[in-house]
Amino acid sequence: MYAEEVAEMAGRIRDEDIALVRERTSIAEVISDTVTLKSAGGGNLKGLCPFHDEKSPSFNVSPARNVWYCFGCGAGGDAIKFLMDAEHLSFVESVERLAARAGIQLRYVEDDRSAPRPRPQQGQRQRLVAAHAAAVDFYRAQLSTAGARRAREFLAERGFDRAAAERYGCGFAPDAWDLLTKHLRQQGFTHDELVTAGLSRPSRSGSLIDRFRRRLLWPIRDLTGDVIGFGARKLFDDDDGPKYLNTPETPIYKKSHVLYGIDQAKREIAKQGKVVVVEGYTDVMACHLAGVPTAVATCGTAFGADHIGVLRRLLMDTDAVAGEIIFTFDGDAAGQKAALRAFEDDQRFVGRTFIAVSPDNMDPCELRLAKGDLAVRDLVARREPLVDFALRHMINRYDLDTVDGRVEAMRRAAPLVAKIKDREKRPEYVRKLAGDLGMEIEPVQRAVLAAANGQPAGGSTAPARPAPATPSVDSPRSMVEREALKLALQEPVLAGPMFDAVEAAEYRHPVHAAVRAAIAAAGGAATAAGGAVWIEQVRDACDDLAGQALVGELAVEPLRIDGEPDPRYVSVTMARLQWGSVTGRIKDLKSKIQRINPVSNKDEYFALFGELLSLEQHARALREQAAGGL
Ligand SMILES: [Zn+2]
Repeated sequence: MYAEEVAEMAGRIRDEDIALVRERTSIAEVISDTVTLKSAGGGNLKGLCPFHDEKSPSFNVSPARNVWYCFGCGAGGDAIKFLMDAEHLSFVESVERLAARAGIQLRYVEDDRSAPRPRPQQGQRQRLVAAHAAAVDFYRAQLSTAGARRAREFLAERGFDRAAAERYGCGFAPDAWDLLTKHLRQQGFTHDELVTAGLSRPSRSGSLIDRFRRRLLWPIRDLTGDVIGFGARKLFDDDDGPKYLNTPETPIYKKSHVLYGIDQAKREIAKQGKVVVVEGYTDVMACHLAGVPTAVATCGTAFGADHIGVLRRLLMDTDAVAGEIIFTFDGDAAGQKAALRAFEDDQRFVGRTFIAVSPDNMDPCELRLAKGDLAVRDLVARREPLVDFALRHMINRYDLDTVDGRVEAMRRAAPLVAKIKDREKRPEYVRKLAGDLGMEIEPVQRAVLAAANGQPAGGSTAPARPAPATPSVDSPRSMVEREALKLALQEPVLAGPMFDAVEAAEYRHPVHAAVRAAIAAAGGAATAAGGAVWIEQVRDACDDLAGQALVGELAVEPLRIDGEPDPRYVSVTMARLQWGSVTGRIKDLKSKIQRINPVSNKDEYFALFGELLSLEQHARALREQAAGGL
């Protein structure tokens, strides 16, 4: 695919220019923009792969050979391919980006297979970035006009002088409908480009107008420093819009990935192995100016999994090297809720996540204004582990003066302690929790153990968490399990042999597993003739009450296929049932292989490798089977 694309695109940029770009590009520098690389010996570098989820680095870069390769997921290539994959650029866009970086003037050749173009076609990304760069200049110039007085006051009131405003490229969107749009159109940007970039939008009359009006603007940059969007603060009371407006989703602006300030903070984040997540643009500025250079903020969205991915690669957060992530939240309910949600979502980061709440519920910007730079640094230094924070807030909701209150608080808090990934830390927290609750250690320990036993231990083969009596039918996983059981109950003659051949362990939901066990105990689906007698036999063989009820339900629930089920449908269903666990096992095996030294543990290495190959073969077969043999 890549080679074809190269061949096709090579007609546009001259081959010798592409070769020159490859030659003059330092692959290590390009990759270092998004992935923190450490020495791997032999002149090679390694880091956490941006293309698959991993805990120890298997992403290798060879500056000498100008290539990168990931032993975890098999991705690899040159610098051009890296930008294509990592930034979702086209081949041309990648070459253009690298050329700009290396100061190479690209020459384009006319494509003789089509009509000559009026001018060389640049990649879309480059055009959108260029439009943003022009918009930054425009808005910045507007900030010193008479109409921008309120914007300058806003910055001054928050302790930001002219130099600070310039460092962050602050600007002002004037009180006009289409000043920016006209300005950019004059510079050669098309109607479509301005709309796609999110800088302009069509008005009701159909003409193009500016997206931002009468607002203070912060340019939002990606990791490499390119401006990809804006954050806009309301300044006037008669502005009906929300307090903050951001660029909408565009081909270059994805709010789930964007972190404001990351371009300025990334070196320090990688160097210090820590990042401070704050809530707004002014907080990022205040932190950086106060001597906390690792601060970033999300833009118009909650901190999520994609943000964690971006940061983990900068932090090189591995099992061996632990990066620290510090959230500063308002002490208010929303901030606390956000902190607890982070705890819910992210098991991996739990032990390394900290909360910094300022005593007077001030955000970093207010804190710097009221108490100075030192107070901001102090806020970050006085961070508290997320676990402690979460426990304190959980417990505070109960009346600990009553036995009922203490027991209920213990029941609610125990699962939080059970979630602590670092098992060695658990006893410490059990003691602490018991102390905070004013209870003996033993009952708390029991509650934590009980909660831990119902928890997945981390791997994909771990037992499922305790499930509700009635299995949910929403999840695709649950749906497939249910479908397989329906086939065995309703169509045992057709589905029996294939159904019996799939191991009981593939049924993750306990109630589903109970029904699967009952079918086996009743002699297996392959031996059944079907009908009401078969359903009764299975029900009798089921020693789980919820399972017995489910047998009756599944015996009558329509199959999810139009028309009569056939062998192909059975085969597809059973393949989908096994798919999740096979891919999970492949993932586990790959990570195990990666941790083994192939030289000193040669035998084990090759044994595991053989196992991996056969599993992958199995996965391929299943995938074909799931696709219906196509
Ligand atoms: Zn990878």
